[in-house]
Amino acid sequence: MKEVFDKGLFRGTIKFDEPMSVHTHLRIGGPVEIMVFPEDVVSLKNVLFAAEREKIPVFVFGAGTNLLVGDGAIKGIAVSLKAFRSMEYVRESDDRKVVLYTGAGVPLASFVNYARKNGYAGIEALVGIPGYLGGAVYMNAGSFGAEIKDVVVSIAVMNMHGEITILDKDEIGFSYRNSNLPEGSIILSANIILEKDNPDEVAKRTNEFLKKKRSAQPLEELSAGCVFKNPEGDAAGKLIESAGYKGVRKGGVEVSRVHANYFINRGEATGSDFIALMETVKAGVKEYSGIELEPEIKIIGKEKLN
Ligand SMILES: Cc1cc2nc3c(=O)[nH]c(=O)nc-3n(C[C@H](O)[C@H](O)[C@H](O)COP(=O)(O)OP(=O)(O)OC[C@H]3O[C@@H](n4cnc5c(N)ncnc54)[C@H](O)[C@@H]3O)c2cc1C
Repeated sequence: MKEVFDKGLFRGTIKFDEPMSVHTHLRIGGPVEIMVFPEDVVSLKNVLFAAEREKIPVFVFGAGTNLLVGDGAIKGIAVSLKAFRSMEYVRESDDRKVVLYTGAGVPLASFVNYARKNGYAGIEALVGIPGYLGGAVYMNAGSFGAEIKDVVVSIAVMNMHGEITILDKDEIGFSYRNSNLPEGSIILSANIILEKDNPDEVAKRTNEFLKKKRSAQPLEELSAGCVFKNPEGDAAGKLIESAGYKGVRKGGVEVSRVHANYFINRGEATGSDFIALMETVKAGVKEYSGIELEPEIKIIGKEKLN
């Protein structure tokens, strides 16, 4: 790996023993051996080639807004494509629709804002969701009944051997807060289709969704978004609240009093606190309702929820 960095085979930022807590919205996470932010596809490829040769594990993250990372040291390389920020107009698919290219590192918020300004409809309901486009596609991010899958045309992915494939929407395996890409897929970009509309109307709808989201979710707090997936026909937040867990705390992590499916870092929270609270809430909801909650957040590092 050293020669990739030393011999000019990598453009971008490299960090060693970098705490993941600096790169997660929860502000939790131990140090990772190597963290890279490549600026182009060739640099990404060169890192992957070296990692494969040297058998170094690689994991991908975006803005870390849906991640819980354990407290211990993490072996391997963490890759984020936050520098893949280009956003381009591709074509008009007919006189009412436009196709836009978005790099994996484009913040979803910037993209929603761009659509609002230009009067492109289709992603108004995704306003207020943090993170990057790559993460949004991987997680099939959604809100108020809309999901990113509704507007994705295709994506470009690189596998761990550095090979690039274009996948059409129906090859991505989208489901509720999930995609089903082959293991080790790194999303490089997505082509998104939106509908031309009146900018005032798009802005109005976007603002209404944001107002609704702000009033129901603790957006300004340190969280990882919804901790558990909504079970079929039910809402995880409601179940947690009904089971009596609003405001319950383990160490530095608290079940939000605003929305019980958000767990908040109140200061010195650790990954172990978070996992302990998840286990307590999961067991409590099971006892109260018979329903087994499944994590929505992605967990990296030593601790795992059984
Ligand atoms: C306050 C708050 C509100 C939220 N509200 C919502 C909401 O309303 N709806 C919703 O769906 N989510 C919500 N979330 C969760 C989160 O914002 C989304 O899931 C977001 O799309 C994750 O993007 P990210 O870049 O932060 O991904 P990360 O958290 O960094 O990663 C999430 C997963 O995606 C994978 N991943 C990231 N980038 C790539 C890539 N380029 N290629 C391959 N895999 C990748 C990672 O490996 C990981 O498994 C919220 C989170 C917070 C903190």
